[in-house]
Amino acid sequence: MRDGVHDPHSNGQLDPLLRELLDFGLVELDPSDGSWHLSESARQRLSLLAVPPPPAEKIVYFGHRCTSCGQIRPTRFRAEGYVCDECTGRAPVADWVEPLPRAPGLTA
Ligand SMILES: [Zn+2]
Repeated sequence: MRDGVHDPHSNGQLDPLLRELLDFGLVELDPSDGSWHLSESARQRLSLLAVPPPPAEKIVYFGHRCTSCGQIRPTRFRAEGYVCDECTGRAPVADWVEPLPRAPGLTA
């Protein structure tokens, strides 16, 4: 512990996490110098996870009921709850989402 800051390394609090890193093969021992390194796959995932999430207004939720009009439409989470784009005056999500192509032989 230094300067009154709790050091989780000193009393083994990180041991379960470190054991999981070993068990999942996310850390590798470099036999040349005895140092530990994150595996390549762990480094790649960390790079993805370190990117900040998009702002809440950019995330579209499907299957929620709009708190304003009561319709089940694509919504965005706002201070008042899940609100569809029609109720907020934005261009509806359906106007810019391209439908997935249908598999040949299937009918609507
Ligand atoms: Zn609405």
